[in-house]
Amino acid sequence: MHTIIEPFRIKSIEPIYFNTALERKSVLEKAFYNPFLIHSNDVIIDLLTDSGTSAMSSNQWAGIMNGDESYAGSPSFFRFKETVQGITGMPFIIPTHQGRAAERILFEMIGGPGKFFISNTLFDTTRANIEFSGATGIDLICEEGKHPSIPAPFKGNMDVKALTQTIKEKGAENIPLIILTITNNSGGGQPVSMQNIQAVHKVCKQFQIPLFLDACRFAENAWFIKMREEGYADKTIPEIVHELFSYADGCTMSAKKDAFANIGGFLAMHSESLALQCRNLLIITEGFPTYGGLAGRDLEAISIGLKEVMEENYLQYRVRSIEYLTEKLVAAGVPVMRPGGGHAVYLDAKEFLPHIPIDQYPGQALTCALYEEGGIRSVEIGSLMFGKYDSGGKLIPATLELVRLAIPRRVYTQSHIDYVAEVVIDVFKKRNQIHGLEILEEAPALRHFTVKLKPITV
Ligand SMILES: *Cc1c(COP(=O)(O)O)cnc(C)c1O
Repeated sequence: MHTIIEPFRIKSIEPIYFNTALERKSVLEKAFYNPFLIHSNDVIIDLLTDSGTSAMSSNQWAGIMNGDESYAGSPSFFRFKETVQGITGMPFIIPTHQGRAAERILFEMIGGPGKFFISNTLFDTTRANIEFSGATGIDLICEEGKHPSIPAPFKGNMDVKALTQTIKEKGAENIPLIILTITNNSGGGQPVSMQNIQAVHKVCKQFQIPLFLDACRFAENAWFIKMREEGYADKTIPEIVHELFSYADGCTMSAKKDAFANIGGFLAMHSESLALQCRNLLIITEGFPTYGGLAGRDLEAISIGLKEVMEENYLQYRVRSIEYLTEKLVAAGVPVMRPGGGHAVYLDAKEFLPHIPIDQYPGQALTCALYEEGGIRSVEIGSLMFGKYDSGGKLIPATLELVRLAIPRRVYTQSHIDYVAEVVIDVFKKRNQIHGLEILEEAPALRHFTVKLKPITV
């Protein structure tokens, strides 16, 4: 078979600015060892996130010019609504300015103290919105999902036995929703199988709890189902996507992921009464229901992107590019999550830097080392992002200490990815020289965005 090539040509380019390792050392210091505080002009390859960083297609840019900016009843909204209805099969579609706005509205309506939301793994903004409402989030990832280096086809699955047990423990009446994150972003971009979605759906039906999908990467998840799950090889992506949504009562979506848009999101559902409540809040915080915090042109870009993302040539290239980087790192002995996820390569920082104790944030130390070595920006997904303190102020660590190299959609070429592999491998060779970090300043929620740290050099 020939090389799987980028299924696009480049029409417009953005320059990359180069700096030296010495300059990057001082950039890091000024940014308090937090990659979120680095100016993006100081970054050579930006793998901080795949969110809102996609390259739009010429069709999407053409759609931008077709955007109708009417306050109410814009045709751009109706095109958007029809597309989302077609994909999800859900009648009530609420546009929001991004995924977390959909989450905020949803959890403000149905969350609150004494409530529990169960998931395979809640994404950080989802968990934060749940907790902000006063409710509690519970992650029940399957056993395979807890072992980064052991390959399994569907490491994003929920532990269905634990789900039933937890529902009985907490009481179905205290659980307004079960949420499956597809693919499981915080758990390594690992997919959820159709069988697992069906099994969770069955439990939800049994206890009469609605099932929602955090559908940010629905197309990548569908591709994994086609590739890895028995009975799906001959189905088209739209068919798989249709089935996947058929088990859900609603979904939240960030259009900054699998819609190739730079901004946007939506909430979709079957329940008219819940949609009515959500719309009331939408009008106060986002905007009128036919634009919901977006411009008409954004709605156009999203509806075109949602169709493009289901093209098989694209999905094959997308997943291959992640696998390609994973293979290179595995061959050099770098501890990475296996198999590769849908949107990112995850380094296992616990194994990469075993000499750094968890309360000195090995993942964060690794993100800093990658930046200093090659100007690569990545993000820690571990105890800095998800750690909590006990009543004595001692860190309660996260399950995994990962560093995510998120690959923006349609942005970097194979030589960029080769460069990334070289830098990671160079850092791996020098890993003994990397120091842990201590926190100087932090916010009470989503602290990783703004936290300030310093290296521990004693
Ligand atoms: C990005 C993301 C969100 C939040 O979406 P934003 O558009 O960033 O607000 C929620 N869930 C998952 C799984 C995500 O990846």
